[in-house]
Amino acid sequence: MKNQTYHRKGFGLQDVVEEDLKRAYESNLIAELKEGGNTLVRNDITIRLAEAFGFCWGVDRAVSMAYETRRHFPDRKIWITNEIIHNPLVNSHLRDMSIDFLSIREDGTKDLDCVNEGDVVILPAFGASVEEMHFLEQRKCDVVDTTCPWVSRVWNRVQKFAQSDFTAIIHGKYNHEETIATSSRAETYLIVQNLQEAELVGDYILHGGSAREFLERFKQACSQGFDPEKDLVRIGIANQTTMLKGETELIGKLFERTMLSKFGPTMLNDHFLSPGDTICDATQERQDAMLSLIEERLDVMLIIGGFNSSNTGHLHEIALTKGVPSYHIDGPSCIVSASSIRHQPPHRTDLVVSDDWLPASPVVIGVSAGASTPNQVVAEVIEKVFALRESSILESSNESNR
Ligand code: SF4
Repeated sequence: MKNQTYHRKGFGLQDVVEEDLKRAYESNLIAELKEGGNTLVRNDITIRLAEAFGFCWGVDRAVSMAYETRRHFPDRKIWITNEIIHNPLVNSHLRDMSIDFLSIREDGTKDLDCVNEGDVVILPAFGASVEEMHFLEQRKCDVVDTTCPWVSRVWNRVQKFAQSDFTAIIHGKYNHEETIATSSRAETYLIVQNLQEAELVGDYILHGGSAREFLERFKQACSQGFDPEKDLVRIGIANQTTMLKGETELIGKLFERTMLSKFGPTMLNDHFLSPGDTICDATQERQDAMLSLIEERLDVMLIIGGFNSSNTGHLHEIALTKGVPSYHIDGPSCIVSASSIRHQPPHRTDLVVSDDWLPASPVVIGVSAGASTPNQVVAEVIEKVFALRESSILESSNESNR
C-alpha cells in the first residue's frame, strides 16, 4: 500500500495527544516506585517491580497513532481491524472515542463488509493480513497502519524466504493476529507453537512418517496444499516477535541440526535459513527483567496483562519456573479479596479462582506486566493489594478493641 490514503507515520500530532495519553495511562504511584528503586513498602507488604515491564515502544507508538487519528479525522467513521493491543482498558478508551472494532462473524472471520468507502481504518500493532490490506485498498479507505516495525521486520524475512522458494517455519501461535499476518506473507508455511512441535517436524524431516497424520496434527497451522514431503526440504525460520526468546533459539538450532544431518554441511545453506534476531528488544528486556526478579526472595508474583496477550503469558511461564505462586491477572478486578484471586493458569484460556493467595504475614510481592499493560493498571492492582491489607489490619484492631 503506497498512496496518499495510506498513513504509516501518524499525523505529527504527538504533542497534542500527549496529555490525553498521560492522563489515561500514566500513574504517580509507578513514578514513586521507580524513584524508590522499584521497591515500595506499605504496612507489611513489599512490592518489588520488575526493572522492565509494561508498555513497550511499539505499543506506545500504536496507541498514540490511534489517538492522533481521531484528532486528524474528527468527523470520519473510524474502524480498527482488531484490538489495537491486548489490553481491555486501552481498547475501551478507543471505543469511548468512537473508534469501532470490526465485528467477528460466526465462522471467526472479520466482517469487513461494514467498512465503507471513505472510512478510516486503523491496523493494530501486530499488523493485518495481506488479504485484509488488499480489501481496504480496494474499498478506498484511509488506512492508518500502526504495525510495529519489529513485526514488519519478520514479514520482510518471510517474504525473502518465499522469493527463494523456502518454506517459512514460524515459531508462534497459529491463531494469534501477528502470526496470521506473518503467515499471510509466506507462500508456504508451517507454524510450530513450541519445541515439542518443532521436534515432531524435525523427526518427520529425518525419518519420514505418515503425511496424513502429519497434516492432521498441523491442519490449522500450515499453508493450503502443504505437502510435508516436498515442503520441508528448504526451510527458513521466523517467529512471532513475542515468543520466549530461548525457545525460538532452541527451535532454530534444532532445525539447523536436522538439516545438517539430512543434507550435510556443504549443502546446508541450500536447505536452511536461520531465524536471525527477530525477538523484539522490548520482549527480551521484559523476559530478562523477569528472570532477574525471580532470583529474589518473593512470596507471590502478580503478572498483569490481557489474557490474550502472548508476551504476558510468557512472563508468567518464566515466573513459574522458580515455583513461586504466580498469578496472571488482567487488572484490579481480578483481586476479589485478600483470600481470593481470579486468574488465568498458563496455557489455558479459562479463568480460575484461587484461595489464600495473599499470605497474612509480612509478604514480598513481585510484580511485572506485559508490553500492552498501561502503568495505570499496574498501579491500580498495587493500590488494591495495599487497600485490602489496610482494611484487614483495621478489622483486626477493631476486633481486639472490642
Ligand atoms: S512487544 Fe515488541 S513487537 Fe510487539 S509492539 Fe512491542 S516492540 Fe513491537
